[in-house]
Parts: sequence; structure tokens; C-alpha cells
Amino acid sequence: MAKKFNIAVIPGDGIGPEITSAAIEVLEAVTSRKGIELFTKELKAGGDAIDNYGIPLPQETIYAAKDSDAVLLGAVGGPKWDNIDPSLRPERALLGLRSGLGLYANLRPVKVFDELKSASPLKNPGQIDFVIVRELTGGIYFGKNGVYQSGDRLPDGTVKGKVAYDTESYSEGEINRILKIAFDLAMKRRKKLTLVDKANVLVSSRMWRTLASQMCFDYPEVEFNCLYIDNAVMQLINRPSSFDVIVTSNLFGDILSDEAGQIAGSIGMLPSASIGTPGTPGLYEPVHGSAPDIAGQNKANPLGTILSCAMMMRGLNEEEIASEIENAVKKTLESGLRTSDITFVGEGKNTTPVGTKEITKAVIDNL
Ligand code: NAD
Repeated sequence: MAKKFNIAVIPGDGIGPEITSAAIEVLEAVTSRKGIELFTKELKAGGDAIDNYGIPLPQETIYAAKDSDAVLLGAVGGPKWDNIDPSLRPERALLGLRSGLGLYANLRPVKVFDELKSASPLKNPGQIDFVIVRELTGGIYFGKNGVYQSGDRLPDGTVKGKVAYDTESYSEGEINRILKIAFDLAMKRRKKLTLVDKANVLVSSRMWRTLASQMCFDYPEVEFNCLYIDNAVMQLINRPSSFDVIVTSNLFGDILSDEAGQIAGSIGMLPSASIGTPGTPGLYEPVHGSAPDIAGQNKANPLGTILSCAMMMRGLNEEEIASEIENAVKKTLESGLRTSDITFVGEGKNTTPVGTKEITKAVIDNL
């Protein structure tokens, strides 16, 4: 019997529909050659859902996403919905999808294609190819917080007044499950894992270190080391090519992954995956937003979304298909084709400016 995949597609807003349809075209082309049946179902979320249902994430979307093998998301949001009630903003759909699907790990690969090295702000970026594994559902963003009034005084006599606080808290269970994802990923790659924390100050970071050091015994082949976050942000600029897998908390991962995105040069090239318990559908999406300034103009770079589909296939244990998609993207860049965001980027090569449709066709031709 032919293998089948049910993919839930959430185009979202702005350039979302253009880039998701481009990525699905690529996915259909590559899977049909392998005799795999691909069923796609379009779902609404973000501004698209607000316009149709009055809420950013209809239950129907969550049910259908849960029922799929994997979810592909374009992007949500845009100026049209900027002034609505914050609890109804399009971006709420992302949080709802993450919690609805139980996604607790965000994987952000940063790979700089040789052809796009000059897009990196680094002088000599070298062979950059690492993945940041960020804890997604715990830590300070979800810890106890609040504001209270205090009549106490600081040592210099100043009255404290209002006090605002947030709490970084992690359980062993939360840490161990994401560490396992990171160690397993390192085993499939160059077998190097770096834990980024602030263990010289934070109790929760010390627990990350202890648990990671214990887990090392289960992965004797993995070369494990730790870096404080303040040092890690410097080392990522200094020696980006020395990293393989980086695992870290929600807050540090948020900051590091944006820094890493800059190293790669173009936001349109970066894929991501959010995953949870094995066997539940993962959410695959480019890291950029809905780019309303270029929506509907055939200008969007679909390669980050296409590379997200490669991650999706890898997540579904289709390593060969994942590599084929990645190689087709590489060949397309080698041929000099560039969307507007990477138009002038080329390593000593003549480049040809093209639109979303043309670059998608080239990727399919290069499969
Ligand atoms: P953005 O990533 O949408 O755009 C930033 C800049 O990069 C723009 O100039 C845009 O044209 C360009 N750009 C982005 N993706 C591109 C692509 N694939 N090809 C070519 N150029 C591309 O960020 P923003 O402008 O800050 O946000 C726009 C909207 O997207 C906001 O409503 C924001 O809340 C939302 N947003 C959504 C997500 C998501 O859905 N995951 C993430 C970030 C921002």
C-alpha cells in the first residue's frame, strides 16, 4: 500500500499563502516521484481566521492540525489587525497552536549556503551549520509574575514603590525531555552539544547543567560542553562554525535564535520546526513574519518555507526526501537565481532576480 501523509496547511496572512503554496508544490513534486500520497488540508489561523470567524484560532483548526501528520504554517499578522483587542491578535494563534499540539521544543537550524555567504554580516562566516534547540513552553515566559506595591526602602533610602516580577522555573521533567531531543539530534549530526545557561547565577540553570551532565552517560559519543549565555552570544559571532547543536531555555533561546538568524544574512532563508511528544504532529514554518510590505507581489522568498518542508520530511523519517529538497535549494542558489531579499547576494557569480513563482519552479526542476 502506498505511503500517505496528511499535511495540515495554515497559509495565514501577508505572504503566507504565496510561500505555503510554493512549498506544497515542491512537496507534491518530490513525494509523488517516491509514490507517496500527499493529502493537504487548508486551515485558517491568524488574521485570516479573525476575518472569517472573529477569533485567531478556531477549534476546527486545532482539531484538524492534531489529526494530521504534520502542520505547515506560513505566517500570521499584519497592520490590518494591529489595533484589535490584544487577546484576539493574530499572533495568539501561534501560542494556541503550540499549546494545543503540545509542542515544547523549537528547532532552528542556521546554515549559510556557500552562495549566500556575502549576505552574512560576518567577514569570514566559515562553514556555518548549527541548530538551536529552544525550550518553548516553560521558563520565565510562563512562570509566576505580577506587580505589587511595596513601602520598603532600598539601601540608599529610596522607597521601592511598585515591584514587578517574573519567575524562571523549570521542572526536571521539562528539562529532561528537551535535553533528550537535543542529544538525539546531536547523534544524527556532528555529535557536539552545547548547553547555554547562566549557571553561575541561576539555580534553575544549575539544574539544567546537572541533568545534562547526567544524560551525557547515555550518549558517550556526544562531545558535551556548557557556555554561559553572555559568553555564548560572543562565541556565536566569534566562531559560529564550531557549533553543532545548542540547547537552551525559552528566554535564552529566544535571544540566541534571533542573533543566529542575523548571522545567516537573509530572514527569508531560515526554516524552523516545533516538536513535542514523538508521534504527535510537529509544526513547521519559516522564521520570518507575514511581510505585509511585499505580500501579493510575487516577491517573497519561499526558500525558508521550502526548507521547513525538508525538516518536516526528516521529522516524518523521510531523510532521503529531506536531503533532496535541500540539494534542490542549493542547486537553485548555485544557478544564480535570487528573490528580492537576496538579489545582490552572490559569491563571485552573476545573479538573476526572480520572483516567488520562478524560484519555486527552479527548485522543482532541480529536484
Ligand atoms: P517580517 O519578518 O514579516 O518582515 C521583516 C522584513 O523582512 C520585511 O521587510 C519583509 O519584507 C522582509 N521579509 C520577511 N520575510 C521575507 C521573505 N520570505 N522574502 C522576502 N522578504 C522577506 O517582520 P515584521 O515586518 O516585523 O512583521 C510583519 C508581521 O508579521 C507582523 O504582524 C508580525 O507580528 C508578524 N510576525 C509573524 C510571525 C509568525 O507568524 N511566525 C513572526 C514574526 C512576525
